[in-house]
Amino acid sequence: MAKKVAFYTLGCKVNQYETNAIAQKFLENGYKKVEFDEPADIYIINTCTVTNMADKKSRQIIRQAKAHNKNAIVVATGCYAEVSRTELEKIEELDLIVGNKDKSNIVEIVEKQLNQESDINEEKEFQDFGTVTYTEKTRAVIKVQDGCNNFCSYCIIPYAKGRVRSRKPESVIKEVQEIVKSGIKEVVITGIHVASYGKDFEDGTGLIDLLEEINKIDGLKRIRLGSLEPNLITEDFVQRLKNNVDKICDHFHLSLQSGCDETLKRMNRKYTTKEFEKGVNLLRNAFPNVALTTDIIVGFPGETEEEFEKTYNYLNRIKFSKMHIFKYSPRKGTVAAKMENQVSPEKKEERSNRLIELSDKNEKEFLTRYIGKTIEVLFETITDNEYTEGHTSNYIIVKAKGENLENTIQRVYIKKYSNLTLIGDLI
Ligand code: SF4
Repeated sequence: MAKKVAFYTLGCKVNQYETNAIAQKFLENGYKKVEFDEPADIYIINTCTVTNMADKKSRQIIRQAKAHNKNAIVVATGCYAEVSRTELEKIEELDLIVGNKDKSNIVEIVEKQLNQESDINEEKEFQDFGTVTYTEKTRAVIKVQDGCNNFCSYCIIPYAKGRVRSRKPESVIKEVQEIVKSGIKEVVITGIHVASYGKDFEDGTGLIDLLEEINKIDGLKRIRLGSLEPNLITEDFVQRLKNNVDKICDHFHLSLQSGCDETLKRMNRKYTTKEFEKGVNLLRNAFPNVALTTDIIVGFPGETEEEFEKTYNYLNRIKFSKMHIFKYSPRKGTVAAKMENQVSPEKKEERSNRLIELSDKNEKEFLTRYIGKTIEVLFETITDNEYTEGHTSNYIIVKAKGENLENTIQRVYIKKYSNLTLIGDLI
């Protein structure tokens, strides 16, 4: 069926003439012209900048276009688009700006945009780069999944990266085997939304099946997971992880984003704080030394003092070993960017500072617990003062003195804490 295109012209007769010429090009390419107040696939606004009023009117018409079809492509061209590109770029509803010099190629430019959008959304296969050459000596990051179907209201990723695509287990296993042959001892399994690994497979293979297979690879010492979505942490997942994946590192980064259910709902996150806490307890019961870290967004649109206090109290109770705090900033093209009650920069700053303080306190508490204990460290790099630095399985940084420690796993007796690091002696 022919795609529909609608036009709106502001300003002078030259503009009118040019709109007609552009319309002609679309018709020659098989498009159907419809009125501007009808649903169309493409809306072209030929703008004018002769007065401030003309600018204002141009912006208004651009904003209105998507009311007729929210999935349409909205294109601004003409003089205002030519001279005030940056001003126009701030308009959420606008998809494409075509300067005057490109007007004659507007059909090709719009089609390129249409193809790009449909390409990524219809992508079904994981783009497999095969085995990547690693420069790291001890740890390699492996991408097993791409895309996301979740559409959190603040996130542009599902639009930019398309739907979930998982890498075939055989390809992952082959890469890990190659990595291990090169002497690397730890792999980090990652993806855009790794919890969705396998959702696009028909045989039911999921992340836990993949991890069980990776665990069998001889010579591999550690499997670490990248950032995880909380709803992955079910009883079955944790039990299989504990029983069948003994190389798993007891550090899990669970993206919480807010400790308040109302805020989570506006964020379009798919869990409640209660469900999240259940996952936390499952992991803490299964892995006694587990480090749980998280991401939090402060100042999400509509976050009241009361909502923030709920988040603060929740975080104070859960006690993550570290939190990454982000001040909400709107991303063009997302639902949250258009929400009312945006929070002021001052409030965001204040809330962020409170949570950073809480995180630092909890992190120090978590680390100092290890003073006087012996822990295993995979040493990675030589730092100053003859120290070599590495990580424990629960991702604590440890420094110790010794010869040729790089890429070896050693037992270390922890003597002191300094600046988010533990320092100890080899035993
Ligand atoms: Fe998907 Fe994560 Fe973005 Fe949510 S925040 S849409 S889960 S990638």
